[in-house]
Amino acid sequence: THFGFEKVNESDKAKKVYSVFENVAESYDTMNDAMSFGIHRIWKDIFIQRLAPSHDTQLLDVAGGTGDIAFRFLNYLRLSGDHINSSPKVTVCDINKSMLEVGKTRAKRLGLDGSCINWLQDDAECLHVEDNSYTAYTIAFGLRNVTRVDKAVKEAYRVLKPGGRFLCLEFSQVTSPQVRWIYDEYSFRVIPVLGQLIAGQWKPYQYLVESIRQFPPQEEFRDMIKSAGFQMVTYENLTFGVVAIHSGFKL
Ligand code: SAM
Repeated sequence: THFGFEKVNESDKAKKVYSVFENVAESYDTMNDAMSFGIHRIWKDIFIQRLAPSHDTQLLDVAGGTGDIAFRFLNYLRLSGDHINSSPKVTVCDINKSMLEVGKTRAKRLGLDGSCINWLQDDAECLHVEDNSYTAYTIAFGLRNVTRVDKAVKEAYRVLKPGGRFLCLEFSQVTSPQVRWIYDEYSFRVIPVLGQLIAGQWKPYQYLVESIRQFPPQEEFRDMIKSAGFQMVTYENLTFGVVAIHSGFKL
């Protein structure tokens, strides 16, 4: 594109990402609504519909931040009336303490029973989770923030039980040149301004836009998932490829 990227080396990236999310934690949810016109809610709803969990799904939601995916997971089970005999459980894992704190506060406000969510501060690249322990692994808008994406995908494979499902929701590549032009203009020119106006911060939102452009496109990411050992790997574009859902199974 005609917009330049700031080059960041690997060890700096993790630190930078940590400080970005530490700074935005309090305004994170408001900003998501503002920047995406609320559309991120629809993407996340579709994501959970694709997962189609049941009462025996044991979910690990990595880079779970303030809990959006976990809350939708629990809500899906509540609405499907599928948790009558056992209370559903989900583990929200995030590297950032501030994001998890916001998530815990939200869970309380939503009246969610503390026993159905397990909060875990951990790194996607190196999970303190036993092999073969979950039936589903989700990661929404998380992987592009991870320094070594391939390492995180291998960890996903390791912690899943045979038959387990990997699902990733992430910004991706807009294919149509016309839509891409509008999207680029919006992202590079408007998003940092919104960050400044609403959250009082420019830099984290500039990082957001840059990190989106640096994430591998649909097919390349699909191949990375296959290389980690996953099978039946597929992806689905949403909103012209602004985001994509990648899916794979550990068989
Ligand atoms: N999944 C949530 C959602 O969809 O709203 C939060 C997504 S937020 C854009 C990205 C999250 O990834 C942040 O909370 C950040 O702390 C977390 N993160 C970044 N690097 C990580 C890592 N190496 N391991 C685990 N979480 C990480």
